[in-house]
Order: sequence, then structure tokens, then C-alpha cells
Amino acid sequence: MYEMYESFGIERDVYDYAKTILDGLKERFEAVDANAEYNQLKVLCAMQKNRVSEADLKGSTGYGYDDLGRDRLERIYADTFGCEDALVRPQIACGTQAITLALFSNLRPGDELLYISGKPYDTLESVIGIRDCLGSLAEYGITYAQADLTPDGHFDEKSIREKICDRTKIVAIQRSKGYDTRRSISVKETGDVTKLVKSIKKDVLVFVDNCYGEFVERTEPTDAGVDMMAGSLIKNPGGGLAAVGGYIAGTKECVENAAARLTSPGIGREVGASLGLLPSFYQGFFLSPVVTASALKGAIFAAALYERLGFDVFPSSDEERTDIIQAVTLRSKEALLSFCKGIQSASAVDSFVSPAPSPMPGYDCDVIMAAGDFVSGSSIELSADAPLKSPYNVYFQGGLTSFHAVSGIIKTLQCLINDKIIDRSALK
Ligand SMILES: *Cc1c(COP(=O)(O)O)cnc(C)c1O
Repeated sequence: MYEMYESFGIERDVYDYAKTILDGLKERFEAVDANAEYNQLKVLCAMQKNRVSEADLKGSTGYGYDDLGRDRLERIYADTFGCEDALVRPQIACGTQAITLALFSNLRPGDELLYISGKPYDTLESVIGIRDCLGSLAEYGITYAQADLTPDGHFDEKSIREKICDRTKIVAIQRSKGYDTRRSISVKETGDVTKLVKSIKKDVLVFVDNCYGEFVERTEPTDAGVDMMAGSLIKNPGGGLAAVGGYIAGTKECVENAAARLTSPGIGREVGASLGLLPSFYQGFFLSPVVTASALKGAIFAAALYERLGFDVFPSSDEERTDIIQAVTLRSKEALLSFCKGIQSASAVDSFVSPAPSPMPGYDCDVIMAAGDFVSGSSIELSADAPLKSPYNVYFQGGLTSFHAVSGIIKTLQCLINDKIIDRSALK
């Protein structure tokens, strides 16, 4: 085996160090596989129950009327996620648009949106209007409030009670951490807090930004009782095969609202051609439990390896997981660049290019993104990204196979050693 890693540019002592850590993770990996097995059967049963047939994969053009395969896939998402309805469309360009759609379609002027998981993901600051932006919710007279998590990363009941007011219409929860180092929020916590929120104000809708969370646990926030959730198909549920798309899942009413805004009032979900994309949407969803498990193994391995080398990692290697993101505090810009170089050079596509920090729409500082993806920007594929600011946290995620995820992390260690950021003696 080592010979193969040697051709991949890995030195003996780096390989041996990584191998020792991997050997210690067997039980963790078995637990991850057990979840994947459970979720694989859940998806399979949903596909069988809905009687998927070869003709469903054909797709549509133009208006996309009577696209039975598209409609059936939406039933499969709803059944898998334990909710009434879902909208799964290539016309939803990314995760931010899926969340935007969920919010804009279910809020009306005069309503207030309350985030109870602290500051939302960077791109949503423009959507909400926390940062002045053309077309934001603020422009439509929808106000924003925020309840921060407690210092140890749990919902702050006192603050939530204070912040819910007459105008509160949606209470939003971001499951994954975004560019932060807080705890991620488990499915059970989303369910518990939904009960709390509804006991305070009955007619409030609870929304979850589910990006990076799908299939990590055996249930989803919609199973736990939230009204709607949204995510990106170039993250977990597309299984690495979907080349574009997003979804919204939840109650019939929430999803109908979203459909009316995605296309047009009165037309709603009846239009929207799936073009030739349905085979990849179906097959990607089918593979997603296993692909997500591969990404999880990479994340757990990265945590264990960098923890052992003395870095702060979020979450730690032995914490329960609810998303696929692994943050590592690298403490210097040089270390960050070196780590990203490692991920890039481990890619199947564009392995020979060097990632460089640059401004990105929706982000307020330069961002570095390392990924040689089959699908551009897909972060269910092996990737790492980071805003260029102290303390230089890198966010690692993805890996279509666990072997690729693991070899990518080994490559980052090799780069940090080559660049003399980590001393070889640390591998003893
Ligand atoms: C990725 C992500 C988003 C936005 O998704 P894009 O597809 O990049 O627009 C929103 N929220 C969270 C928590 C995310 O991880």
C-alpha cells in the first residue's frame, strides 16, 4: 500500500503516522457505516414505494408540463425526509437561493424573521439585509432579530423568549456552523426547540438551513417536526452526481408558497423543465447516504489527525456528528495556504493548479477555496475553504469516496511538513 501512497507524493513517516490514526478509528467508521446502511434502505424504500420507473428519468424541456419524473422525485424527497411535500429543482441555483426562496415565500411585509442559532451564514447577511443589499428582505419591510447561542453552543431559552414578538413569523435555525467554530445543531435539538418555540407562539414557522446535514443522522429536522428546511444539491443530497439544484422540504403550505415564488403565482410547481438532469438527481440521491458517510469519515480522520498534532479542531474527533464540516484552527495564513494546496493537489481534476485567496460575492473578506471538482464548486467533493482572517480556521468537507477524503487529508499533512509549518519530529 505504501508504494501507492509514495506515487501520490506521501513520505513514509507521514503515511505511518496517518495509518496509526486511521487504525484507531475503526469503531467510529463502523458506526458511520451503520447510519449509511440505515439511510440507504430509507431512500431505497421511498423509491420503491413511489414506483420509480425507467420513464421517470426521461425529463422534460420547455415549460416542463407533466414532468412525472420530476414530481415523483419530489415525493421521494418528502417521504425520505418525513414531511408532506418537497420542491427539488435545477432552477434553484444554490443553497443560498433555496434558503432565500423558503424565507421570501413564507414571509410577508411587516413580519419578523428570528434566527435563534446566532449569526447566519455569510451570504444570508445580504439576503436578510443585515448587510445593506439590493433586493434584501429588509427592502420588503421584513425585519430581523437574532438570539445568540449560549457560550457553550446551545439554544438560549431566555433569549428566545425575549426575542419572539407579535410580528415573529419564522424562527430560523442553521444546523451547520458555516464559517464559525460553534457546535453544530443536532436533529433532536431542532425538534426540542421547535416544541419550545411553538409553546411560546403557536403560529410561528420553524425553518432549518439543513446544508451539509442530510443523511448524517438517521432522521432529518423535518422528521423532528420543523415546518420546512432547505439545502443544496451540490452538497450531500446530490450525492456528487447532481450538477446543480436545491430543495425545500416541509409542510404542504410552506412548499406551495415556495413554488409560487420560484416560478409564478398561479403557475407554481407545474412548470420548470428538468432537462436531462433527472438521472443524476435520482442516482445522486440514491448514493447520497454512502457519499455522505465517506465525507464523514474524512472529517473524523482530519479531526483525529490534527487534534493529535496539537491543533484546535471543531468538532473534536470523539464528538457526535450532525454535519460533514470539519474546522481546524491553523493559526497562520501560511498554514492555511499550505493546507489548501494539499487538498487541491489531491484532487482528480485541476490537481496541478494552486488555489489563491480572492473576493467572493456575498462574503466580506477574501476567501480561499481549494477544490478540483467534477462539478464546479461542489463541496460534497473533497474541498477546503476559508475566509482569510485570524485565527485562520480552515473548513474541510467532502470526499466522494472515503479513500479520497482520507488521502486528501494525508496530503495536507505532507504539504504542512514540506512547507516547514509542522516539524517532522511531531510525527514520532
Ligand atoms: C453552503 C451553505 C449555505 C449556502 O449554500 P451555497 O450553495 O453556497 O449558496 C448556507 N448555509 C450553510 C450552513 C451552508 O453551509
